[in-house]
Amino acid sequence: MKRRQFIGTGLALAAGWPFRGLASVLNDVGDLPAKTLAGGDLLLRGSSVEAFAASLRGDLLLPGHDGYDQARHVWNGMFDKRPALIARCTGASDVRRAVDFAREHQLLTAVRAGGHSFSGKSTCDGGIMIDLQPMQGVRVDPEARRAYLEAGSLLGQLDHECASFGLATTAGTVSHTGAAGLTLGGGLGRLGRRFGLACDNVASFDIVTADGHFLRASDDENADLFWGLRGGGGNFGVVTAIEYRVHPMDPTVLAGYVVWPFSVARDVMRHYREIALNAPDMVNLAIDLHWEPEGPKVGIEVCWSGDHAEGEAWLKPLRTFGKPVHDDVAPVPYVTLQSSGDSGVAAGGHYYVKNGMLTRLEDDGIDRILDVFQRTPNLYSLFFDHGGGAYQRVAPDATAFPNRDMLFLLGCFGGWSSQDNDDEKIAQMRASWRDLEPLTRGFYTNLAEPDKTTAGYRENYGGNLERLIKLKTKYDPMNLFRLNANVPPRA
Ligand SMILES: Cc1cc2nc3c(=O)[nH]c(=O)nc-3n(C[C@H](O)[C@H](O)[C@H](O)COP(=O)(O)OP(=O)(O)OC[C@H]3O[C@@H](n4cnc5c(N)ncnc54)[C@H](O)[C@@H]3O)c2cc1C
Repeated sequence: MKRRQFIGTGLALAAGWPFRGLASVLNDVGDLPAKTLAGGDLLLRGSSVEAFAASLRGDLLLPGHDGYDQARHVWNGMFDKRPALIARCTGASDVRRAVDFAREHQLLTAVRAGGHSFSGKSTCDGGIMIDLQPMQGVRVDPEARRAYLEAGSLLGQLDHECASFGLATTAGTVSHTGAAGLTLGGGLGRLGRRFGLACDNVASFDIVTADGHFLRASDDENADLFWGLRGGGGNFGVVTAIEYRVHPMDPTVLAGYVVWPFSVARDVMRHYREIALNAPDMVNLAIDLHWEPEGPKVGIEVCWSGDHAEGEAWLKPLRTFGKPVHDDVAPVPYVTLQSSGDSGVAAGGHYYVKNGMLTRLEDDGIDRILDVFQRTPNLYSLFFDHGGGAYQRVAPDATAFPNRDMLFLLGCFGGWSSQDNDDEKIAQMRASWRDLEPLTRGFYTNLAEPDKTTAGYRENYGGNLERLIKLKTKYDPMNLFRLNANVPPRA
């Protein structure tokens, strides 16, 4: 039984990229219809597209080219978009050329790393997709305790390279997620209460800003930009590499899933709240309400990353509470745990999510959550990510990530196949969320749904908004990078 496993069959992960190595020489390209940043129509001259292709080491894919269809697909199959051009960048030089081309033509611009944006922000119709997927690789320096990651890399690559040196840092819970998008928006994960957000562990970013300049952002260089990149998403440019601080950690953790029948869900949730709120940083406890063929269940995923004997003792009151119907908590390689939910959220399915931060959880809130969940059988799960710990020990204005006081993140997640009716399911999820949202304060931008407005994002940045607007106005005054948790520049 895997936590968050909703679409078990019928979906395969995107295969590899067999078309690497095409020459990026294009001939006889006709004028190409495209979309501007403002949504207007534009005709790109064939000769300028050819010159752009010739300037790249990676491939420039146009509609009809081999590999175009494979490259345009993103993780959430609900977004079936067709960019006018896909620049498959192989390094920072290609990224600079793509940014220059996009800016000079005022082209609608999407930046894609892992392509896992729930809201489909890494693709577009008629614009350019700056595709970082060919830029993959992680190098670990065990002496310096640093991991250097190319911006198209996935979380599984980061975890894997670190683990063999007995090192780790916070990454998300699904190994095929892109590291760059996750880190730029914050980055919650099983080690987050111990090490902080993924972005709290960044020592430096390499970035190409909207004017095509290549900069390094760290505490010592372009510190204003460094602040904004930790939680401000893709607003300021295309990050081409990330340097992470990594930490010694036993590569085997004590982890697994404990499940109870729904009849005791109220007691389990109350017990969970008390335990989770008083938990040491070494443990991450993520509760969820989900549907199985025989009915609803309540489960807690446990990850204890400290000493195992201590963990066994600490976890006992949780594992012996009530009568669990399933308990597979045991020593397990951290990298195995990190990919344990991968197949349940395979690329190509249709996914929708809503989320909000909980800064308190009262008994009546628990009752409401249970009530709302039961109203719509077999549609979505409700999950809680565990906050507090190291997340909270960073001041809300120390990075652009605003929601440091979250005790839990409440998420409402649904996944279905392309044959189902998206609109009907989304409408049901929205109706449920209308009853849950009053329990929340603020939301996690990386799990935002497509209908989130610019005003919603602005409000969520709270006290950090003015500083973000200033940075945006400095580094991207034309809002070239707008397909993200967007902060428009000052007019
Ligand atoms: C299955 C699944 C599991 C998840 N689990 C977690 C989790 O455990 N913890 C968590 O915190 N989040 C989680 N998320 C949310 C995740 O953080 C976001 O979806 C994140 O945006 C994914 O990054 P990506 O690079 O794959 O996305 P992409 O779709 O490639 O990009 C997302 C956004 O970031 C921008 N972007 C990406 N790379 C760059 C770059 N190099 N430079 C500038 N802008 C860039 C894009 O333009 C886009 O706006 C999960 C998402 C999915 C789909």
